[in-house]
Amino acid sequence: MILQVEKLDLFYGDAQALDGISLGAEEGELVAIVGANGAGKSSLIRTIAGIETPRAGRIRFRGQDIAGLPSHRTCNLGIGQVAEGRQIFPTLTVEENLEVGALLPRARGRTKATMHEVFTLFPRLAERRRQAAGTMSGGEQQMLAIGRCLMGRPELIMFDEPSLGLAPALVQELFGTIRALNKSGLTVLLVEQNVAHSLKLANRGYVLENGRIALSGTGQALLNDAGVRHAYLGISPEAERAMEGPAHKPLMEPTSSPAIRVDRT
Ligand code: ATP
Repeated sequence: MILQVEKLDLFYGDAQALDGISLGAEEGELVAIVGANGAGKSSLIRTIAGIETPRAGRIRFRGQDIAGLPSHRTCNLGIGQVAEGRQIFPTLTVEENLEVGALLPRARGRTKATMHEVFTLFPRLAERRRQAAGTMSGGEQQMLAIGRCLMGRPELIMFDEPSLGLAPALVQELFGTIRALNKSGLTVLLVEQNVAHSLKLANRGYVLENGRIALSGTGQALLNDAGVRHAYLGISPEAERAMEGPAHKPLMEPTSSPAIRVDRT
């Protein structure tokens, strides 16, 4: 496992945001984290990235315990994060934003080669290399946020709601990019409001509820799960029965399926 999270607890003051979270990602996997607003998805990513300090639990990256390490150190180990809201520097040019991403010791000295790779992935950024980042469209700014993260040469890349605020056509493009990055060997942790899309891409997924893992399984098993379909895809059991006709059987009994684990406490 490239990433192993064990019994992670995070508090904001007295309020518990993460409660005994255990999950993992194998090298090269795409793992989706889904859940309602406030379930703790961003908190989980921010804790793995070293922005929040957990009260208890372990986070192992390639076997090394990184819980509580500051974010510049987790980044330098190869953990990249594309934060919610595309945190780019609006007054800097595209090229300058990318250079900032390559300031990590692990990436220094390879700036030119990595920037070439980023421009190959996103030709639009190459065209706009001398433009101030804040003047670009939302979709271009999201490309830049991803590009800047890639400049640090991550081995695990975590996305927090990357499709937020993008037009539908750009969302398709974005998911295509995430898939391509994963196919190129990057391990991906994807937090997405677009549950159907992210579970379709994912090898595995976890459903977060109130700071706990409520359900986990393969992306396909979660997509087929009646509870997930109802809660996150807005498909009611009645509507499914009506679509399937009288011979319909439940899609999946989560507790009896080997592909899925129910962890309700
Ligand atoms: P969203 O999709 O709305 O971002 P989320 O699943 O990412 O939701 P988090 O943002 O991780 O959830 O929030 C989990 C809980 O922690 C919520 O109850 C939230 O109000 C609380 N919380 C998040 N950040 C802070 C903070 N900086 N200080 C205090 N409470 C916070």
